[in-house]
Amino acid sequence: MSATSGPNRTAILGGGISGLAAAWELAKAGQPAVLIEQDAALGGVIRTNVVQDCVIEAGPDSFLAAKPAALELIRELGLADQVIGSNDHLRVTYIRKHGRLIPMPDGLMMMIPTKLLPVAFSPLLGWGTKIRMGLEYFHSSPPNAPERSVAQLVREHYGQEAVDYLAEPLLSGVYGGDPETLSANAVLGQFIELEKKYGSLTKGTLAVRAQRKGGPAGSLFKTLQGGLGQLIEALTQQLDGKIDRVTGAVVSLARSAEGWRIGLANGTAVEAARVILAVPAGPAAQILAGLDAELAELLAAIPYNSSMTIALGYDRQALGHPLDGFGFLIPKVERRKLVACTWVGTKFNHRVPPDKAVLRCFLGGAHIDEPDDALIAAIREELRDLMGVTATPAFHTVQRWRKAMAQYTLGHQGRVREIRGLAGRHEGLALAGNFLDGIGIPDCIRSGQAAVRQLEQAG
Ligand SMILES: Cc1cc2nc3c(=O)[nH]c(=O)nc-3n(C[C@H](O)[C@H](O)[C@H](O)COP(=O)(O)OP(=O)(O)OC[C@H]3O[C@@H](n4cnc5c(N)ncnc54)[C@H](O)[C@@H]3O)c2cc1C
Repeated sequence: MSATSGPNRTAILGGGISGLAAAWELAKAGQPAVLIEQDAALGGVIRTNVVQDCVIEAGPDSFLAAKPAALELIRELGLADQVIGSNDHLRVTYIRKHGRLIPMPDGLMMMIPTKLLPVAFSPLLGWGTKIRMGLEYFHSSPPNAPERSVAQLVREHYGQEAVDYLAEPLLSGVYGGDPETLSANAVLGQFIELEKKYGSLTKGTLAVRAQRKGGPAGSLFKTLQGGLGQLIEALTQQLDGKIDRVTGAVVSLARSAEGWRIGLANGTAVEAARVILAVPAGPAAQILAGLDAELAELLAAIPYNSSMTIALGYDRQALGHPLDGFGFLIPKVERRKLVACTWVGTKFNHRVPPDKAVLRCFLGGAHIDEPDDALIAAIREELRDLMGVTATPAFHTVQRWRKAMAQYTLGHQGRVREIRGLAGRHEGLALAGNFLDGIGIPDCIRSGQAAVRQLEQAG
């Protein structure tokens, strides 16, 4: 077995945004580092394709503006002039109810109503739910409520219809997960805090909003004009020459004289003083199996969901739909194959030329092994039923993401604490990734940065 090495360097395993953020921190500080990624391209699930002048995100399309880590990184890379916001003045999200697309009423923050009239007049929810939503203002919760699933929390406050037609479709778009198994404490931590303080989620949300009045306004989501692939391109270019790169799949991690010996699938090894493990929890478990079976077992217990994005591009005239909103969500109780669909050109400027239209569709992992043709035919049928679209797409792209989305199921926070505790037994080892403290891009960037700081502090 041959080995490449460098004195005192840090090896980053995994070149998604978590690993890249760590690499960037090290490069800025002039620290020696080597990034090991199995794919030829960096970026993990962040990937942008441009087809017929349409910017099509194969994975994430934007990030929450309220979490600053992504914008800060973008500024450091000199891309600030490329940042665009979502067109929030056009923001309408439709939800399928009894086969029709109904706009989500104005003033809903996730599933929390903050305006009475739009909810009262919306056909999305029945009268039982509406009355319950009004009465929730007087809800009080026990001071030490046990951990609950997202569905339990929402059911307790607003009833089952709010779970089926709001919480489930909204969270399916983010986690691709099931609200009955997702932990409210891990996924909706801010709501748990509001519940503790105010009892009612509506009362708490209104109070927070009142405190924020006068604060900075702006789009809820930000992204880059040419797609998030621009961020990866900039990182790839600006890291070039500052850190070493190895293309190969890591299969093992063991102690060595230099610190760590990182075994690759091709039989070679890389030596490093410190390691940042920034691959998803499943591969991390496999890599660590020989070093720490207990830690590997805990990592393997974090479930991941698969998903797909299928973009259909049309001639704008032929589409025959106003695209008057950001798109739609389909609740599980009404789902066939489609989970959600984004009307790309309405959500973001600069992504779709005026003579084109792009419908970006999301599907769950259950269909991941079905052939492209069958999937596209099924989606076109659903789009015909829901939007009246019968035109033949001018082009399509299909992207399968296998086990990419970490699921924060009940007990997640405890599992992560235990994982951190066990990983802490190994000097010079830090973890990063979307299975720790948040799956959004800003959370992943923070996890990469935190891993660097953790190793620095340990000396
Ligand atoms: C379809 C989709 C849509 C999303 N939409 C949004 C959104 O709009 N906004 C948002 O904020 N977040 C979104 N997310 C979530 C967010 O994009 C991800 O959580 C984040 O990008 C994950 O980054 P990561 O680096 O932790 O993991 P990954 O991107 O999965 O990167 C891990 C890397 O490790 C590599 N790797 C794995 N095993 C090995 C090995 N053995 N050896 C070497 N390399 C290995 C992989 O090849 C990969 O490059 C979305 C995710 C998906 C899948």
